[in-house]
Amino acid sequence: MEPLSNKRKVLESKPLNLMERAYLPAIVKGLSITLKHFFKKPVTISYPEEKREFSENFRGMHSLKRDENGKERCTACGLCALSCPAEAITMIAAERQKGEEHLYREEKYAAVYEINMLRCIFCGLCEEACPKEAIFLTDRILPTDYSRGEFVFGKDKLVEPVDERVDVTVRQTAAVLEFKTHKQYSHNK
Ligand code: SF4
Ligand code: SF4
Repeated sequence: MEPLSNKRKVLESKPLNLMERAYLPAIVKGLSITLKHFFKKPVTISYPEEKREFSENFRGMHSLKRDENGKERCTACGLCALSCPAEAITMIAAERQKGEEHLYREEKYAAVYEINMLRCIFCGLCEEACPKEAIFLTDRILPTDYSRGEFVFGKDKLVEPVDERVDVTVRQTAAVLEFKTHKQYSHNK
């Protein structure tokens, strides 16, 4: 049969000599590689004691924000879910009842808001689509877990605690702020 390319290499099965049969050259070669790496600067770090410096546009775990009075900003409009390319966001909207004005800023709110973090690709489109400045990707790393179900984050993990606000300004670089000054994105100011 005609070869498809001239890169073909014919391998010959030669009998091993004495040194090769003792595996000495291979052992010395392996040890020399180990020794070489021994004196090199390690490429790994001891996380979580040590942390790498992130790029300024790093996008980590989401936060559902509250307004200055502690009310949830999300109005369950669904734009974030619609813009999500990974279909990672699920929500169920509910109407704000009388007496709940201190909890939710708008008349409609997300009774259920979930992000499947195993589907999420941290593209940030949900943040860009949100007309209420309600969802932000932060500089926080996602916690690890052993079970897949634990990666479906609900409001208990996403909504920022009233007394422990999440700082989202770290990712608001000059470029992002400039982007938000454009008229067509003014809803995102
Ligand atoms: S960051 Fe991207 S993939 Fe993740 S939930 Fe938001 S829109 Fe979806
Ligand atoms: S997070 Fe923003 S875009 Fe998503 S449902 Fe709430 S208000 Fe709408």
